[in-house]
Amino acid sequence: DRFVAPAASPVEEQQDRAIRPKTLADYTGQDSVKEQMEIFIHAARARREALDHTLIFGPPGLGKTTLANIIANEMEGDIKTTSGPTLEKAGDLAALLTNLEAGDILFIDEIHRLSPNVEEVLYPAMEDYQLDIMIGEGPAARSIKLDLPPFTLVGATTRAGSLTSPLRDRFGIVQRLEFYNVDDLTDIVIRSARLSGTSIEPTGAREVAKRSRGTPRIANRLLRRARDYAEVKGDGNITEEVADKALNMLNVDVRGFDHMDRRLLLAMIEKFGGGPVGIDNLSAAISEERDTIEDVLEPYLIQQGFIMRTPRGRVVTDHAYTHFGLPAPDKDQ
Ligand code: ADP
Repeated sequence: DRFVAPAASPVEEQQDRAIRPKTLADYTGQDSVKEQMEIFIHAARARREALDHTLIFGPPGLGKTTLANIIANEMEGDIKTTSGPTLEKAGDLAALLTNLEAGDILFIDEIHRLSPNVEEVLYPAMEDYQLDIMIGEGPAARSIKLDLPPFTLVGATTRAGSLTSPLRDRFGIVQRLEFYNVDDLTDIVIRSARLSGTSIEPTGAREVAKRSRGTPRIANRLLRRARDYAEVKGDGNITEEVADKALNMLNVDVRGFDHMDRRLLLAMIEKFGGGPVGIDNLSAAISEERDTIEDVLEPYLIQQGFIMRTPRGRVVTDHAYTHFGLPAPDKDQ
């Protein structure tokens, strides 16, 4: 399995419960998102209104679900959680909506994957707190309209670009999460270590942070593995050296790239002369789903300046050649 795999496993969810921040104050980094949300939440609470519908987008593991839960917590509402692919029928969504109470949060993860008929039910619900749905089939079919309590829809997506514009337009607040810098990730690692009773040096935390692909979920995952390593090979304390050895053993390199990142970069260099290469060719070359490449692998490699997107396809930059100790091609040829 891919070590930096984006999705959390059930065991991990369990371990995560203890360390997941529950208030905005505990939510590390993302300063502008935090500052704005603080104001919007404060204002909505003072007016005793539901918070405007909020769309959160950004790569996996950056804290979208965490933020949705924090919003519910700060608004003192309950949160009901679902996801785009799970809501197959309009009735599934109607059941959720009719169970909401005033001020509740409906969190829909992967909201770009809603089916069109479910999405249509969402529009009047978002706009006017109205449920407008057909029940039954054929001549017995009839439409029912219900008033819904004022609620807040929080949608999360890895791709803002995949949302239909009528859906996107119905969100009053749109927040984009960025990859975390090393300082913020170091704080996250130190906090998680404290809450999970793990002994770690500040330099050890920094080493884990540097190799976490800018992603809190990966930082927490690497911390757990470094802890295992420290307990078996050392005295349980995660020093910089222990962290380095543990991460090397896991094949997470000094840039935080794992074997999938390296395969992608090397395929671009060795099979496509550095690019430009189209996403489908790349997907075939490394036997990886197009979506995984676009949603999980590429964003960090682009942010780090290892890949660029051009109108003719992806190209690797000189950084990629340097990373593998390869000579960069002469651009004048
Ligand atoms: P997403 O929904 O974007 O995939 P999650 O909200 O599940 O990501 O975040 C993954 C884990 O990373 C969380 O369970 C939490 O422990 C940690 N995390 C995310 N964002 C932060 C943050 N800003 N500060 C501290 N920990 C965070």
